[in-house]
Amino acid sequence: MNIAHWLERSAQQFAATPALFHGDHCVADYAGFASRAAALACALTRQGIGPGDRVAIFMKNTPDYLIVLFGIWYAGAVAVPINAKLHGKEAAWIIDDSGARLAFVTPDCGTALADASDVARMDVSSSGYAAMIQGAGLPPLSRGPDDMAWLFYTSGTTGRPKGVQITHGMLATVSLCYPVDVDSVAQTDAAFYAAPMSHGAGLYAPVHIRMGARHICPTSDGFDPAQVLEVASHQGPLSMFLAPTMVRRLVDAAKQIGADGAGIKTIVYGGGPMYRADIEDAVQVLGPRFVQIYGQGECPMAISALSRHEVADRSHSRWRERLVSVGRAQSAVEIAIGDADGHPLPAGQMGEIMVRGAPVMPGYWRNPEATAKTIRDGWLMTGDMGQLDAEGYLTLQDRSKDVIISGGTNIYPREIEDVLLTHPMVHECAVVGRPSAEWGEDIVAFIVLQKDARTDEKEMDALILSELARFKRPKQYRFVPDLPKNNYGKVLKTDLRRMLTKDTE
Ligand code: AMP
Repeated sequence: MNIAHWLERSAQQFAATPALFHGDHCVADYAGFASRAAALACALTRQGIGPGDRVAIFMKNTPDYLIVLFGIWYAGAVAVPINAKLHGKEAAWIIDDSGARLAFVTPDCGTALADASDVARMDVSSSGYAAMIQGAGLPPLSRGPDDMAWLFYTSGTTGRPKGVQITHGMLATVSLCYPVDVDSVAQTDAAFYAAPMSHGAGLYAPVHIRMGARHICPTSDGFDPAQVLEVASHQGPLSMFLAPTMVRRLVDAAKQIGADGAGIKTIVYGGGPMYRADIEDAVQVLGPRFVQIYGQGECPMAISALSRHEVADRSHSRWRERLVSVGRAQSAVEIAIGDADGHPLPAGQMGEIMVRGAPVMPGYWRNPEATAKTIRDGWLMTGDMGQLDAEGYLTLQDRSKDVIISGGTNIYPREIEDVLLTHPMVHECAVVGRPSAEWGEDIVAFIVLQKDARTDEKEMDALILSELARFKRPKQYRFVPDLPKNNYGKVLKTDLRRMLTKDTE
Protein backbone atom coordinates (compact mmCIF):
# COMPACT_ATOMS: atom_id res chain seq x y z
CA MET A 1 0.00 0.00 0.00
CA ASN A 2 1.20 3.45 -0.92
CA ILE A 3 1.13 5.57 2.25
CA ALA A 4 -0.30 8.36 0.07
CA HIS A 5 -3.61 6.46 0.07
CA TRP A 6 -4.11 7.84 3.58
CA LEU A 7 -4.31 11.35 2.22
CA GLU A 8 -6.64 10.28 -0.58
CA ARG A 9 -8.94 8.61 1.97
CA SER A 10 -8.87 11.56 4.35
CA ALA A 11 -9.75 13.86 1.44
CA GLN A 12 -12.86 11.73 0.89
CA GLN A 13 -13.73 11.48 4.56
CA PHE A 14 -12.79 14.97 5.81
CA ALA A 15 -12.96 16.97 2.55
CA ALA A 16 -13.88 20.36 4.03
CA THR A 17 -11.93 19.94 7.27
CA PRO A 18 -9.09 22.49 7.61
CA ALA A 19 -5.84 20.62 7.03
CA LEU A 20 -2.79 22.82 6.47
CA PHE A 21 -1.93 25.97 8.42
CA HIS A 22 0.89 28.45 8.32
CA GLY A 23 0.60 29.90 11.81
CA ASP A 24 -3.04 30.96 12.14
CA HIS A 25 -3.61 31.06 8.40
CA CYS A 26 -5.41 28.06 6.89
CA VAL A 27 -3.77 27.22 3.57
CA ALA A 28 -5.89 24.20 2.54
CA ASP A 29 -8.62 21.85 3.67
CA TYR A 30 -8.20 18.11 3.12
CA ALA A 31 -9.74 18.24 -0.37
CA GLY A 32 -7.38 21.05 -1.38
CA PHE A 33 -4.35 19.39 0.21
CA ALA A 34 -4.96 16.12 -1.67
CA SER A 35 -5.76 17.78 -5.00
CA ARG A 36 -2.48 19.75 -4.84
CA ALA A 37 -0.46 16.65 -4.00
CA ALA A 38 -2.18 14.76 -6.83
CA ALA A 39 -1.52 17.60 -9.30
CA LEU A 40 2.12 17.74 -8.24
CA ALA A 41 2.36 13.99 -8.90
CA CYS A 42 0.90 14.51 -12.36
CA ALA A 43 3.46 17.22 -13.10
CA LEU A 44 6.31 14.99 -11.87
CA THR A 45 5.09 12.17 -14.08
CA ARG A 46 5.06 14.53 -17.08
CA GLN A 47 8.73 15.27 -16.30
CA GLY A 48 9.44 11.55 -16.46
CA ILE A 49 9.76 11.11 -12.69
CA GLY A 50 8.10 7.89 -11.60
CA PRO A 51 8.30 4.81 -9.41
CA GLY A 52 11.53 4.54 -7.45
CA ASP A 53 12.98 7.86 -8.69
CA ARG A 54 14.39 10.02 -5.93
CA VAL A 55 13.25 13.60 -5.39
CA ALA A 56 14.96 15.76 -2.76
CA ILE A 57 13.18 18.13 -0.37
CA PHE A 58 15.54 20.80 0.94
CA MET A 59 12.98 23.01 2.61
CA LYS A 60 12.24 24.75 5.86
CA ASN A 61 9.04 23.64 7.58
CA THR A 62 6.13 25.02 5.59
CA PRO A 63 2.69 23.59 4.68
CA ASP A 64 4.07 23.01 1.16
CA TYR A 65 6.44 20.47 2.71
CA LEU A 66 3.52 18.07 3.17
CA ILE A 67 2.13 18.78 -0.30
CA VAL A 68 5.51 18.02 -1.86
CA LEU A 69 6.10 14.94 0.30
CA PHE A 70 2.73 13.42 -0.54
CA GLY A 71 2.93 14.53 -4.18
CA ILE A 72 6.19 12.60 -4.52
CA TRP A 73 4.51 9.54 -2.98
CA TYR A 74 1.41 9.88 -5.18
CA ALA A 75 3.80 9.59 -8.15
CA GLY A 76 5.35 6.45 -6.65
CA ALA A 77 8.68 8.25 -6.29
CA VAL A 78 10.97 8.36 -3.25
CA ALA A 79 11.31 11.48 -1.09
CA VAL A 80 14.77 12.48 0.13
CA PRO A 81 14.12 15.03 2.89
CA ILE A 82 17.23 17.02 3.82
CA ASN A 83 17.58 19.02 7.02
CA ALA A 84 17.17 22.69 6.05
CA LYS A 85 19.99 23.63 8.43
CA LEU A 86 22.60 21.75 6.42
CA HIS A 87 25.21 23.61 4.43
CA GLY A 88 24.56 23.72 0.67
CA LYS A 89 27.58 21.44 0.13
CA GLU A 90 26.25 18.87 2.58
CA ALA A 91 22.84 18.94 0.88
CA ALA A 92 24.56 18.60 -2.50
CA TRP A 93 26.41 15.52 -1.24
CA ILE A 94 23.12 13.89 -0.18
CA ILE A 95 21.48 14.77 -3.49
CA ASP A 96 24.38 13.27 -5.35
CA ASP A 97 24.49 10.11 -3.21
CA SER A 98 20.74 9.56 -3.52
CA GLY A 99 20.76 10.24 -7.26
CA ALA A 100 17.86 12.69 -6.85
CA ARG A 101 16.83 14.24 -10.16
CA LEU A 102 15.01 17.22 -8.74
CA ALA A 103 15.08 19.18 -5.49
CA PHE A 104 12.15 21.11 -4.06
CA VAL A 105 13.52 24.07 -2.13
CA THR A 106 12.44 27.05 -0.07
CA PRO A 107 14.20 30.20 -1.32
CA ASP A 108 16.97 30.28 1.33
CA CYS A 109 17.80 26.59 0.86
CA GLY A 110 17.69 27.05 -2.91
CA THR A 111 20.30 29.79 -2.71
CA ALA A 112 22.52 27.63 -0.53
CA LEU A 113 22.17 24.74 -2.96
CA ALA A 114 22.70 26.76 -6.15
CA ASP A 115 26.42 27.23 -5.44
CA ALA A 116 27.00 23.59 -4.63
CA SER A 117 24.93 21.49 -7.03
CA ASP A 118 23.57 21.65 -10.56
CA VAL A 119 20.54 19.49 -9.72
CA ALA A 120 17.25 20.87 -11.11
CA ARG A 121 15.54 22.97 -8.43
CA MET A 122 11.88 23.84 -7.93
CA ASP A 123 11.39 26.77 -5.58
CA VAL A 124 8.06 26.41 -3.77
CA SER A 125 7.61 30.20 -3.81
CA SER A 126 7.86 30.33 -7.62
CA SER A 127 5.09 30.57 -10.21
CA GLY A 128 6.35 27.29 -11.69
CA TYR A 129 5.52 25.54 -8.43
CA ALA A 130 2.14 27.28 -8.21
CA ALA A 131 1.34 25.88 -11.66
CA MET A 132 2.53 22.43 -10.64
CA ILE A 133 0.02 22.10 -7.80
CA GLN A 134 -2.97 23.13 -9.90
CA GLY A 135 -5.01 21.20 -12.39
CA ALA A 136 -5.62 17.54 -13.00
CA GLY A 137 -4.17 15.03 -10.61
CA LEU A 138 -3.25 11.40 -10.39
CA PRO A 139 -4.45 8.90 -7.80
CA PRO A 140 -1.62 7.40 -5.74
CA LEU A 141 0.34 4.91 -7.77
CA SER A 142 0.20 1.36 -6.45
CA ARG A 143 3.17 0.54 -4.22
CA GLY A 144 4.12 -2.57 -2.26
CA PRO A 145 5.16 -2.63 1.41
CA ASP A 146 8.81 -3.19 0.44
CA ASP A 147 8.95 -0.28 -1.98
CA MET A 148 10.99 2.65 -0.78
CA ALA A 149 9.13 5.82 0.22
CA TRP A 150 11.67 7.92 2.12
CA LEU A 151 15.43 7.95 1.89
CA PHE A 152 16.46 9.21 5.28
CA TYR A 153 20.01 10.43 5.73
CA THR A 154 21.09 9.76 9.31
CA SER A 155 22.44 12.82 11.02
CA GLY A 156 25.52 10.91 12.13
CA THR A 157 27.99 12.29 14.63
CA THR A 158 30.92 10.94 12.59
CA GLY A 159 31.68 10.58 8.90
CA ARG A 160 29.30 11.00 6.00
CA PRO A 161 25.59 10.38 6.56
CA LYS A 162 24.18 7.09 5.32
CA GLY A 163 20.86 6.78 3.48
CA VAL A 164 18.37 4.65 5.40
CA GLN A 165 15.75 3.10 3.12
CA ILE A 166 12.33 3.63 4.68
CA THR A 167 9.63 1.66 2.88
CA HIS A 168 5.89 2.27 2.59
CA GLY A 169 5.38 -0.75 4.85
CA MET A 170 7.69 0.70 7.53
CA LEU A 171 5.88 4.05 7.40
CA ALA A 172 2.49 2.35 7.85
CA THR A 173 3.76 0.27 10.77
CA VAL A 174 5.45 3.18 12.53
CA SER A 175 2.30 5.26 12.07
CA LEU A 176 0.02 2.55 13.42
CA CYS A 177 2.26 2.09 16.44
CA TYR A 178 1.76 5.75 17.33
CA PRO A 179 -1.82 5.42 18.66
CA VAL A 180 -1.02 2.05 20.25
CA ASP A 181 2.28 2.91 21.93
CA VAL A 182 2.63 6.68 22.03
CA ASP A 183 -0.56 8.71 22.10
CA SER A 184 -4.15 8.83 20.85
CA VAL A 185 -4.90 11.03 17.83
CA ALA A 186 -8.25 12.80 17.38
CA GLN A 187 -9.57 14.80 14.48
CA THR A 188 -9.69 17.85 16.74
CA ASP A 189 -5.91 17.65 17.36
CA ALA A 190 -3.26 19.62 15.56
CA ALA A 191 0.18 18.32 14.66
CA PHE A 192 2.59 21.18 15.24
CA TYR A 193 5.89 21.08 13.34
CA ALA A 194 8.40 22.70 15.66
CA ALA A 195 11.25 20.30 14.86
CA PRO A 196 12.57 19.67 11.31
CA MET A 197 10.07 17.83 9.12
CA SER A 198 13.01 16.08 7.46
CA HIS A 199 13.32 14.05 10.67
CA GLY A 200 10.98 12.61 13.31
CA ALA A 201 8.43 15.43 13.17
CA GLY A 202 7.72 14.65 9.51
CA LEU A 203 7.39 10.94 10.19
CA TYR A 204 4.45 11.69 12.45
CA ALA A 205 2.55 13.46 9.66
CA PRO A 206 0.90 10.38 8.05
CA VAL A 207 -0.99 9.24 11.17
CA HIS A 208 -2.28 12.76 11.78
CA ILE A 209 -3.33 12.97 8.14
CA ARG A 210 -5.20 9.69 8.34
CA MET A 211 -7.10 10.93 11.40
CA GLY A 212 -8.04 14.20 9.70
CA ALA A 213 -6.17 16.36 12.22
CA ARG A 214 -4.83 19.85 11.49
CA HIS A 215 -1.17 20.44 10.56
CA ILE A 216 0.40 23.69 11.72
CA CYS A 217 3.79 25.01 10.66
CA PRO A 218 5.16 27.85 12.77
CA THR A 219 5.78 31.17 11.03
CA SER A 220 9.01 31.67 12.98
CA ASP A 221 12.32 30.96 11.38
CA GLY A 222 13.63 28.15 13.57
CA PHE A 223 12.39 27.00 16.95
CA ASP A 224 10.69 29.78 18.89
CA PRO A 225 9.47 28.47 22.26
CA ALA A 226 7.38 31.58 22.97
CA GLN A 227 5.51 31.05 19.70
CA VAL A 228 4.82 27.41 20.54
CA LEU A 229 3.15 28.47 23.79
CA GLU A 230 1.24 31.20 22.05
CA VAL A 231 -0.05 28.98 19.20
CA ALA A 232 -1.00 26.28 21.70
CA SER A 233 -3.10 28.71 23.70
CA HIS A 234 -5.42 29.42 20.79
CA GLN A 235 -4.92 26.58 18.27
CA GLY A 236 -4.60 23.62 20.64
CA PRO A 237 -4.78 20.77 21.36
CA LEU A 238 -1.28 20.57 19.85
CA SER A 239 0.93 17.52 19.57
CA MET A 240 4.56 17.84 18.60
CA PHE A 241 7.89 16.10 18.55
CA LEU A 242 10.74 17.90 20.30
CA ALA A 243 14.38 17.00 20.89
CA PRO A 244 15.42 17.21 24.58
CA THR A 245 17.24 20.53 24.06
CA MET A 246 14.03 22.02 22.66
CA VAL A 247 12.07 20.77 25.67
CA ARG A 248 14.50 22.61 27.93
CA ARG A 249 14.11 25.82 25.97
CA LEU A 250 10.34 25.52 26.00
CA VAL A 251 10.30 24.99 29.76
CA ASP A 252 12.58 28.01 30.31
CA ALA A 253 10.27 30.15 28.16
CA ALA A 254 7.19 28.92 30.04
CA LYS A 255 8.82 29.75 33.38
CA GLN A 256 9.66 33.24 32.20
CA ILE A 257 6.09 34.10 31.31
CA GLY A 258 4.39 31.91 33.88
CA ALA A 259 2.76 29.66 31.23
CA ASP A 260 1.50 26.22 32.20
CA GLY A 261 1.40 24.66 28.72
CA ALA A 262 -2.35 25.10 28.23
CA GLY A 263 -3.27 23.97 24.71
CA ILE A 264 -0.39 21.52 24.44
CA LYS A 265 -1.78 18.02 24.33
CA THR A 266 1.43 16.04 23.93
CA ILE A 267 5.13 16.59 23.55
CA VAL A 268 6.85 13.49 22.27
CA TYR A 269 10.52 13.74 23.12
CA GLY A 270 13.45 11.63 22.00
CA GLY A 271 16.31 11.55 19.56
CA GLY A 272 18.88 12.07 22.33
CA PRO A 273 19.27 11.61 26.06
CA MET A 274 16.88 13.47 28.33
CA TYR A 275 18.35 13.99 31.76
CA ARG A 276 16.17 13.21 34.75
CA ALA A 277 16.44 16.65 36.30
CA ASP A 278 15.22 18.20 33.03
CA ILE A 279 12.18 16.00 32.53
CA GLU A 280 11.17 16.31 36.19
CA ASP A 281 11.33 20.06 35.79
CA ALA A 282 9.40 19.92 32.51
CA VAL A 283 6.54 17.91 34.04
CA GLN A 284 6.48 20.20 37.05
CA VAL A 285 6.15 23.30 34.87
CA LEU A 286 4.01 22.04 31.96
CA GLY A 287 2.17 19.10 33.49
CA PRO A 288 1.65 15.51 32.32
CA ARG A 289 2.02 16.24 28.62
CA PHE A 290 5.15 14.23 27.84
CA VAL A 291 5.75 10.87 26.18
CA GLN A 292 9.23 9.60 25.40
CA ILE A 293 10.18 7.57 22.37
CA TYR A 294 13.43 5.91 21.46
CA GLY A 295 14.24 5.21 17.85
CA GLN A 296 16.92 5.76 15.26
CA GLY A 297 16.85 6.36 11.52
CA GLU A 298 17.28 2.63 11.01
CA CYS A 299 14.08 1.93 13.00
CA PRO A 300 12.42 5.33 12.99
CA MET A 301 10.60 6.40 16.15
CA ALA A 302 9.51 2.84 16.85
CA ILE A 303 11.92 1.03 19.20
CA SER A 304 10.46 1.86 22.63
CA ALA A 305 8.18 4.32 24.39
CA LEU A 306 7.68 5.60 27.92
CA SER A 307 4.04 6.54 28.42
CA ARG A 308 2.59 9.84 29.58
CA HIS A 309 1.62 8.19 32.86
CA GLU A 310 5.09 6.77 33.46
CA VAL A 311 6.78 10.09 32.67
CA ALA A 312 4.54 11.93 35.16
CA ASP A 313 4.20 9.26 37.86
CA ARG A 314 5.94 10.04 41.15
CA SER A 315 4.23 7.40 43.29
CA HIS A 316 5.56 4.09 41.99
CA SER A 317 8.39 2.67 44.09
CA ARG A 318 10.64 2.58 41.00
CA TRP A 319 9.52 5.79 39.28
CA ARG A 320 13.03 7.19 39.16
CA GLU A 321 14.46 4.17 37.36
CA ARG A 322 11.54 4.24 34.94
CA LEU A 323 11.93 7.93 34.25
CA VAL A 324 15.55 7.52 33.21
CA SER A 325 14.65 4.55 31.03
CA VAL A 326 13.33 4.85 27.48
CA GLY A 327 10.30 2.73 28.36
CA ARG A 328 9.25 -0.58 26.93
CA ALA A 329 9.35 -2.10 23.43
CA GLN A 330 6.82 -0.65 20.99
CA SER A 331 4.33 -3.13 19.55
CA ALA A 332 6.00 -3.93 16.24
CA VAL A 333 9.48 -4.79 17.54
CA GLU A 334 11.41 -7.26 19.64
CA ILE A 335 14.30 -5.88 21.68
CA ALA A 336 17.27 -7.87 22.93
CA ILE A 337 20.59 -7.00 24.52
CA GLY A 338 23.55 -8.59 22.81
CA ASP A 339 27.13 -9.35 23.75
CA ALA A 340 30.06 -8.38 21.52
CA ASP A 341 29.12 -11.19 19.09
CA GLY A 342 25.45 -10.28 18.98
CA HIS A 343 24.30 -13.16 21.19
CA PRO A 344 21.31 -12.24 23.41
CA LEU A 345 22.16 -11.68 27.10
CA PRO A 346 19.88 -12.29 30.13
CA ALA A 347 17.81 -9.48 31.72
CA GLY A 348 19.78 -6.95 33.71
CA GLN A 349 23.03 -7.28 31.74
CA MET A 350 24.56 -4.43 29.83
CA GLY A 351 25.24 -4.82 26.13
CA GLU A 352 24.37 -3.54 22.69
CA ILE A 353 20.67 -2.94 22.03
CA MET A 354 19.41 -5.10 19.15
CA VAL A 355 16.02 -4.69 17.48
CA ARG A 356 14.01 -6.86 15.11
CA GLY A 357 10.63 -6.27 13.47
CA ALA A 358 8.65 -4.61 10.70
CA PRO A 359 9.83 -1.01 11.30
CA VAL A 360 13.50 -1.98 10.86
CA MET A 361 15.09 -0.83 7.59
CA PRO A 362 15.90 -3.35 4.88
CA GLY A 363 19.34 -1.74 4.56
CA TYR A 364 21.32 1.38 3.70
CA TRP A 365 21.09 2.89 0.26
CA ARG A 366 23.76 1.46 -2.01
CA ASN A 367 25.97 0.52 0.91
CA PRO A 368 25.95 -3.26 1.39
CA GLU A 369 29.05 -3.17 3.58
CA ALA A 370 27.49 -0.84 6.15
CA THR A 371 24.24 -2.85 5.95
CA ALA A 372 26.03 -6.12 6.69
CA LYS A 373 27.67 -4.55 9.75
CA THR A 374 24.40 -3.11 11.03
CA ILE A 375 21.90 -5.88 10.30
CA ARG A 376 23.13 -9.22 11.64
CA ASP A 377 20.97 -12.36 11.59
CA GLY A 378 17.95 -10.16 11.10
CA TRP A 379 18.78 -7.99 14.12
CA LEU A 380 19.45 -4.29 13.82
CA MET A 381 22.59 -3.54 15.84
CA THR A 382 21.75 -0.08 17.13
CA GLY A 383 25.20 0.91 18.36
CA ASP A 384 23.52 1.97 21.62
CA MET A 385 24.50 0.34 24.90
CA GLY A 386 21.78 -0.46 27.39
CA GLN A 387 20.01 -2.96 29.57
CA LEU A 388 16.53 -4.43 29.90
CA ASP A 389 15.04 -5.08 33.32
CA ALA A 390 12.72 -7.95 34.21
CA GLU A 391 9.67 -5.78 33.52
CA GLY A 392 10.85 -4.91 30.03
CA TYR A 393 12.06 -1.35 30.70
CA LEU A 394 15.01 -0.46 28.53
CA THR A 395 17.67 1.88 29.88
CA LEU A 396 20.18 3.40 27.51
CA GLN A 397 23.67 4.08 28.61
CA ASP A 398 25.65 5.45 25.73
CA ARG A 399 26.55 4.94 22.13
CA SER A 400 28.94 1.99 22.16
CA LYS A 401 31.72 4.19 20.82
CA ASP A 402 31.21 6.71 23.65
CA VAL A 403 31.88 4.18 26.40
CA ILE A 404 35.12 5.02 28.21
CA ILE A 405 37.44 2.14 29.04
CA SER A 406 39.71 3.19 31.86
CA GLY A 407 41.94 0.68 33.61
CA GLY A 408 40.07 -2.08 31.78
CA THR A 409 36.73 -1.06 33.24
CA ASN A 410 33.80 0.17 31.16
CA ILE A 411 32.60 3.57 32.32
CA TYR A 412 29.34 4.97 30.99
CA PRO A 413 29.60 8.76 30.59
CA ARG A 414 25.85 9.18 30.98
CA GLU A 415 26.05 8.21 34.67
CA ILE A 416 28.63 10.93 35.34
CA GLU A 417 26.71 13.50 33.25
CA ASP A 418 23.52 12.73 35.19
CA VAL A 419 25.26 13.55 38.47
CA LEU A 420 26.92 16.74 37.18
CA LEU A 421 23.57 17.99 35.90
CA THR A 422 22.05 17.81 39.35
CA HIS A 423 24.33 20.76 40.29
CA PRO A 424 22.23 23.92 39.99
CA MET A 425 25.09 25.84 38.32
CA VAL A 426 25.57 23.29 35.53
CA HIS A 427 23.69 24.04 32.34
CA GLU A 428 25.06 21.30 30.07
CA CYS A 429 27.88 18.80 30.16
CA ALA A 430 29.52 16.03 28.16
CA VAL A 431 31.91 13.43 29.48
CA VAL A 432 34.44 11.77 27.17
CA GLY A 433 37.58 9.64 27.30
CA ARG A 434 41.08 10.99 26.64
CA PRO A 435 43.92 8.67 25.64
CA SER A 436 46.14 7.88 28.62
CA ALA A 437 49.34 5.85 28.60
CA GLU A 438 48.65 4.63 32.11
CA TRP A 439 44.93 3.85 32.04
CA GLY A 440 44.02 3.47 28.39
CA GLU A 441 41.65 6.37 28.80
CA ASP A 442 41.11 9.13 31.38
CA ILE A 443 37.75 10.74 32.03
CA VAL A 444 37.30 14.39 31.11
CA ALA A 445 34.12 16.36 31.84
CA PHE A 446 33.25 19.37 29.67
CA ILE A 447 30.89 21.68 31.55
CA VAL A 448 28.83 24.65 30.41
CA LEU A 449 27.70 26.71 33.39
CA GLN A 450 24.41 28.58 33.72
CA LYS A 451 24.63 32.25 32.79
CA ASP A 452 26.70 34.23 35.36
CA ALA A 453 27.20 31.11 37.48
CA ARG A 454 30.44 30.37 39.27
CA THR A 455 31.83 27.15 40.59
CA ASP A 456 35.10 25.25 40.40
CA GLU A 457 36.69 21.86 39.88
CA LYS A 458 36.69 21.15 43.59
CA GLU A 459 32.97 21.55 43.93
CA MET A 460 32.32 19.34 40.88
CA ASP A 461 34.67 16.72 42.25
CA ALA A 462 32.99 16.72 45.65
CA LEU A 463 29.62 16.21 43.96
CA ILE A 464 30.90 13.26 41.91
CA LEU A 465 32.55 11.64 44.91
CA SER A 466 29.36 11.98 46.93
CA GLU A 467 27.42 9.99 44.32
CA LEU A 468 29.74 7.70 42.36
CA ALA A 469 32.59 5.24 42.78
CA ARG A 470 36.05 6.84 42.75
CA PHE A 471 37.04 5.21 39.47
CA LYS A 472 34.28 7.21 37.74
CA ARG A 473 35.74 10.52 38.92
CA PRO A 474 36.83 12.74 36.02
CA LYS A 475 40.52 13.46 35.90
CA GLN A 476 39.75 16.92 34.62
CA TYR A 477 36.81 19.34 34.55
CA ARG A 478 36.87 21.80 31.69
CA PHE A 479 34.57 24.79 31.83
CA VAL A 480 33.61 25.81 28.29
CA PRO A 481 31.20 28.42 26.87
CA ASP A 482 29.32 25.82 24.79
CA LEU A 483 29.45 22.28 23.45
CA PRO A 484 29.93 21.38 19.78
CA LYS A 485 26.64 20.07 18.37
CA ASN A 486 25.38 18.79 15.04
CA ASN A 487 22.37 20.21 13.21
CA TYR A 488 19.97 18.19 15.32
CA GLY A 489 21.42 19.51 18.56
CA LYS A 490 23.34 16.31 19.39
CA VAL A 491 26.63 16.82 21.16
CA LEU A 492 29.57 15.92 18.95
CA LYS A 493 31.63 13.87 21.35
CA THR A 494 33.96 12.99 18.48
CA ASP A 495 34.94 16.67 18.25
CA LEU A 496 35.56 16.83 21.99
CA ARG A 497 37.72 13.71 21.83
CA ARG A 498 39.62 15.12 18.87
CA MET A 499 40.28 18.29 20.84
CA LEU A 500 41.68 16.28 23.74
CA THR A 501 43.83 14.10 21.49
CA LYS A 502 45.31 17.25 19.93
CA ASP A 503 46.10 18.59 23.41
CA THR A 504 47.99 15.45 24.35
CA GLU A 505 50.02 15.39 21.12
P1 AMP B 1 19.06 9.38 14.62
O1 AMP B 1 19.26 8.15 13.79
O2 AMP B 1 19.77 10.56 14.12
O3 AMP B 1 17.61 9.62 14.93
O4 AMP B 1 19.77 9.09 16.06
C1 AMP B 1 19.38 7.99 16.80
C2 AMP B 1 20.17 7.90 18.08
O5 AMP B 1 19.74 8.92 19.01
C3 AMP B 1 19.90 6.60 18.81
O6 AMP B 1 20.68 5.53 18.30
C4 AMP B 1 20.25 6.97 20.23
O7 AMP B 1 21.65 6.96 20.43
C5 AMP B 1 19.76 8.40 20.33
N1 AMP B 1 18.39 8.44 20.88
C6 AMP B 1 17.22 8.38 20.22
N2 AMP B 1 16.17 8.44 21.07
C7 AMP B 1 16.70 8.53 22.31
C8 AMP B 1 16.14 8.61 23.63
N3 AMP B 1 14.84 8.63 23.85
N4 AMP B 1 17.01 8.68 24.67
C9 AMP B 1 18.35 8.67 24.47
N5 AMP B 1 18.93 8.61 23.26
C10 AMP B 1 18.12 8.52 22.19
